[in-house]
Amino acid sequence: MSEEAPKEYLSLRVDDGIAYVCIDVSGQRVNTLSTPMTERFEEVLDELRDTAGLEGVVIHSGKEGNFVVGFDINELQELSQRPEDVRPMIDRGHQMLGRFEELSVPVVAAVDGNCLGGGLELAMACHARIASNNDKTQMGLPEVKLGVIPGLGGTQRLPRLVGLQTGLNMILTGKQVGAKKAKKLGLVDDVVHPGILLQVAAEKARKMYAKGGWQKRPKASIGEVFSNPGEMVNLAAKTPARKLIFNQARETTRKQAGDKYPAPFAAIDVIETGYKDGFDAGLQAEGDAFAKLVKDDVAKNLINLFFMKQEVDKAKPFPWNTKAYPVDKIGVLGAGLMGAGIAQVAAYKGYEVRLKDVDDEGLSWGLNYTKELIDKLVKRKKISAPMGDIMFGRISGTTEYTGFGQADLIIEAVFEDLDLKKSVIKDLEEHTHDEAVIASNTSTIPIKEIASASKNPEMVLGMHFFSPVHKMPLLEIIRHEGTSSKAVATALEVGRDMGKTCIVVNDGSGFFTSRVIGAYINEAGWILQEGARIEDIDRAMKDWGFPVGPMKLVDEVGMDVALKAAKTLQEAFEERWDAPTALKAVAADGRKGKKNKKGFYKYKDGKGKEVDETVYDLLPGGRDRKPVDKEVIQERCWLAMLNECAYCLQEEIAEHPRDIDIGVIFGLGFPPFRGGILRHADSVGLPRVAERMHRLADQFGDRLKPADIIVEKAEKNENFYSE
Ligand code: NAD
Repeated sequence: MSEEAPKEYLSLRVDDGIAYVCIDVSGQRVNTLSTPMTERFEEVLDELRDTAGLEGVVIHSGKEGNFVVGFDINELQELSQRPEDVRPMIDRGHQMLGRFEELSVPVVAAVDGNCLGGGLELAMACHARIASNNDKTQMGLPEVKLGVIPGLGGTQRLPRLVGLQTGLNMILTGKQVGAKKAKKLGLVDDVVHPGILLQVAAEKARKMYAKGGWQKRPKASIGEVFSNPGEMVNLAAKTPARKLIFNQARETTRKQAGDKYPAPFAAIDVIETGYKDGFDAGLQAEGDAFAKLVKDDVAKNLINLFFMKQEVDKAKPFPWNTKAYPVDKIGVLGAGLMGAGIAQVAAYKGYEVRLKDVDDEGLSWGLNYTKELIDKLVKRKKISAPMGDIMFGRISGTTEYTGFGQADLIIEAVFEDLDLKKSVIKDLEEHTHDEAVIASNTSTIPIKEIASASKNPEMVLGMHFFSPVHKMPLLEIIRHEGTSSKAVATALEVGRDMGKTCIVVNDGSGFFTSRVIGAYINEAGWILQEGARIEDIDRAMKDWGFPVGPMKLVDEVGMDVALKAAKTLQEAFEERWDAPTALKAVAADGRKGKKNKKGFYKYKDGKGKEVDETVYDLLPGGRDRKPVDKEVIQERCWLAMLNECAYCLQEEIAEHPRDIDIGVIFGLGFPPFRGGILRHADSVGLPRVAERMHRLADQFGDRLKPADIIVEKAEKNENFYSE
C-alpha cells in the first residue's frame, strides 16, 4: 500500500459471500473522493478480484448520514494550477469506475446521506443503488456551480439512468433530489430505512447475482436499449426530437446564465457526443472538456468563491470564544415587506415570532404576506400542508407591545426614518428584557445614531436583510463602536440559522452594501444624464454579468427608496459624492418604479419589458439620445462600484477583502464568474485600474478618482489580496 493511501480511506470486510467496501475518510466530517482515495479503491479492486466465493459487493459509508459529498475541492483547486495532471487523473478515475462496472459480481451502492458529485458518479457506476429514507439523503451533480462538469462519467451515466431531459436538467442546474424523488426518476432501485440499508443492499446483490444479466449498462445510442422505456421510443426512433432537446437546452442555458459560464454548454456537448457516438466516446469527450474547464478563470474564480464562502460561513465573532445569547423568540417591528419577510424566514427555521405593526391594516398585510410565502412552499412541496400550518402558527401578530417581553432578539423594520426608529427603540425598551438584542434593518442610517436612543446601546446593532428576504442569501451585520461582541455573536448565530451568509461590517452611512450599490447606480445615473439610452445602460451591465441592469434595479428597489438612500449617502460623503439630477427629476414625476407601475420601464402584468420613452422628456437631451460605447458604460459602472469598495476597505467598514467580495456577489448581484470585485480588480491589475480611473475622472468627474488605497497598492504593484 502506498504512503498516500492509508487504510483510513476505505476498509473491506467479507461476510457470507458479500464484500462490504466502507468509505470513511478519517479526520474529515464528510467523505470526499481524491487521488489517495482512488489509489485505495484500486487496491480494494485488486483484493475483490482475488477473493473467491463472492456473490456481490456493497459500497457504503462509515459516516452516518453522509455517503460522499463529491471530489475533494482542495485537490480540485490544486489541479487547476497543474493542468497537465488533470487528464491522467480523469482517465484513472474513469478506469477505476469502469473496473467496478466490470467486476464479476454485482456491485450495489448503499446510499445514506449526501451523495453528490463524484459520490453520485461512484454510485451510478454500481449495478444498483439502494437509498436510505433519511432526510439527509440528497443526490445530484453540482459541478457546474464550480465551473466544471462531472468528470467521473456522470455526464454519461446520469442521462442513461434517468432519461435525457431529466439528466440534462440535473447536470445543468446542479439540482439535488431526495431519496423518494430519486426512486421515481429511476436513479435508485429502492428506498429503505437506514437501519436495514446494508442488509437490503446485500440481498439485492445476491438476487442480481443469482438472476444474472446485471452487467448490462443502460445505453443511449440509437437502437440501443434505454433504461427509460418512454424515451427509448421517442428518441431512439426520432433523432430530430433528440436534437431539439439538446438545442433547447442550449437556448435555455443561454437565456438563464448568458454565455459567461462555459461549463453548462460543455456538458450539453459532451452528453450529445455520448448519445451520438456511444458511451466511450462520451467519456473521452467528458475528460477533454473537464481538463479544459478546470484551468479556465471561471472555474478558478468559482472554486475560490466556494472557499471564501466557507470561510465567511465559519468565521467566529471577535473575540472568537464569545457566546451568543440564547434566542427562542424573535420580535419583529413593522409588518411591511421586510418585516413580514423576516418573520416568515424566522418561523420557517423554528423561531416563535411576534410581529407588530401600528394598525390592523398594516398587520394583516404582513400576516397575509407571510401566509402567501408559506403557501407557496406547500404548493412547491418544500413542506407539507400540516408543516405549513405549524409554521404559520409560530407567527403571532399584535398592534401593541404585548409579548415583546419574552423576545430575545427584536428586529426593527419600520420606515426608513431616523426619528421614527429612535422613538420606536425607546418605546420598545419599555417592554423588553435586559438581555434582548435589538437589531435594525435600516438600509442606510448609521446604527450609532439609532442606538443613541437606547438605554443599552451595546445591545443594538444592524441586521440588514435584502429583499426578498426568503430568496436573498446575504445578511449584513453592522456593529457600531459600542455594540457588544455578545450581541454580534447572537446576530451571527441567528442569521446563520436562518440560512444566510453573514458578513460583519463596521458602522457608517450605508455601511457597506448600500454605499457600494449607491455608487454604482449613481454612475449609471450620470451616464443616463449625459444622453445614453436606458436600455443601452442596462444591456451593457447585463452583458458584463449582472442579473439586471442598474436602471431596472432602481425600478425594482423603488425610485423613492433609492433616492432616500442617495440623499443619505450624498450628505455623508459630500466632499466626493456627486449626484446627477436625472434620478431626482424622474422621481419628481411620481415614478416609483415597479411598485406603482411607473418607472424607467412600462409595466404590464408585473413585468417591465419595454423602456418608457416618456422618461426621456424629463432628462437633459430629451428623446434625442446618443449611442455610448458599451465598454465605457461597463468600465464606468464597475469602477465606480470598485472605488466605493476600496473606500470601505480603507475606512475599515469592511475588514477583509473576502467580506467585500462575498457581499457584492451574494447581496448585490455582482457576477460570480468574476470571483468578486476586488479579485476582479486584482486580475485586471491595480496599476491598470488606477490608470483607467484617473483617465475616467479627467473625462467624467472627480468622483471616479481612485481611492488612496488603490493608488498606494498600484504604486507598490500589490493586490487587494496580497498580504
Ligand atoms: P414598508 O413600508 O414595506 O414597511 C414598513 C412597515 O412599518 C409598515 O407596515 C408600517 O406600517 C410599519 N410601521 C411604521 N411605524 C411603525 C411603528 N411605530 N411600529 C410598528 N410598525 C411600524 O418598508 P420596508 O420596505 O419593509 O422597509 C423597512 C425597513 O427595511 C426600512 O428601514 C428599509 O430601509 C429597510 N430595508 C428595505 C429593503 C427593501 O428592499 N424594501 C431592503 C433592506 C432594508
